[in-house]
Amino acid sequence: MQIKAYKFRLYPSALQQKQIIKQFVVCKEVHNIVLEQSLNAQVFNRRDLYTIVKDIKTTCPSYYYLVHSQALQNVADRLSKSFASTFRRAKERANGAKVKLGFPRFKSHIRSMTYPQSGFRFVNERKISISKLGNIPIVLHRIPKGTMKTLTIKRNAAGQWFATFCCELPEKHLAPLSPLDEAIGLDVGINKFAALSNTEIIQNPRYLMKSEQKLIRLQRNLSRKKKGSKNRLKARFHLALQHLKIRNQRYDFLHQTSTKLIRRYRHIVVEDLRIKNLVKHPNLAKHIHDASWGNFVRMLSYKAVAGGGFLEQVDPRYTSSTCCNCLARNKMPLNKRVLTCHVCDFVCDRDVNAAVNIFNRRAGRARTHTPADRVTSASSPKLVSELNEPGTIVGNTTLSS
Ligand SMILES: [Zn+2]
Repeated sequence: MQIKAYKFRLYPSALQQKQIIKQFVVCKEVHNIVLEQSLNAQVFNRRDLYTIVKDIKTTCPSYYYLVHSQALQNVADRLSKSFASTFRRAKERANGAKVKLGFPRFKSHIRSMTYPQSGFRFVNERKISISKLGNIPIVLHRIPKGTMKTLTIKRNAAGQWFATFCCELPEKHLAPLSPLDEAIGLDVGINKFAALSNTEIIQNPRYLMKSEQKLIRLQRNLSRKKKGSKNRLKARFHLALQHLKIRNQRYDFLHQTSTKLIRRYRHIVVEDLRIKNLVKHPNLAKHIHDASWGNFVRMLSYKAVAGGGFLEQVDPRYTSSTCCNCLARNKMPLNKRVLTCHVCDFVCDRDVNAAVNIFNRRAGRARTHTPADRVTSASSPKLVSELNEPGTIVGNTTLSS
């Protein structure tokens, strides 16, 4: 089974918004009560936490009757999950791993609420009925597939409301996407978003860079406003909206690009990058965040599975500096964009060379012929010149085949 989340925009009335926020406050209080009592009693498993929630019915009945009972239970669920992961990390630390313990904390606010099984139903395609809140207009811009399991209500920093449904789908729920068992190597970068082992290039849209001046202006605007003032609230809202816009642009690009790739290639090979370590780089961090490789690889992975394909992660070491023609190691500082092999005189774009190396490191499964196979076996000058041609730009346009 694969769990897929569908997110839809909600439009609660002013009164309903107030009610939901009140419920969030109750959830926060319950979270803090359960955390405190479980620490006092030293009980951390789910069933004990449920008992504490049930006791709230007698100790604070006003809380209990304001929120759907299962949504309250879910507060305990979340807490027991974070206890469990704390204990898991403690074990890892005992075995010598360098991880933070991350103990659950007391909260000052909670921004979402989950209905695990019941408490919601669709009235029609434009309205959803939620327990203790009534009918709320919803925009179903697509039809959720599979069996609906949970509903989460959430408000983002820009004050927009969303309903997220987690649905259970069979592992392979999409029709096979690519007719051929084709494989491709992919090298992600900053100058170019990605280079493919068939010499195609996907340009980096750099949404953050494009809006950076605007963000700086909005941030300055915010810091000039008096603390606690209405104007400060407004400025904060405008800033949040701009950040949201960049995020949406980025996600849109990532979704479109990953879907296009999955439709063409059954077997995708990428580098196994430790993004957390890369992000520590002082100059590149924001570019790496902007490119969101981690999200991209995650999308490729679950979309590949859904379409019957698979994603393979290979050793990332020396992919840029190894000549893909003769496997000799070359000196490749970051600013050198073209590889000229000192052994075999092979000339190739830096990123395409890396993509071909990544492609060649794949496991034996689904071995097929892509243009990259020709490139790697190429010693004839004709193919070398082919590599020097500017690759197909995939960016915002459609992938050409
Ligand atoms: Zn070489």
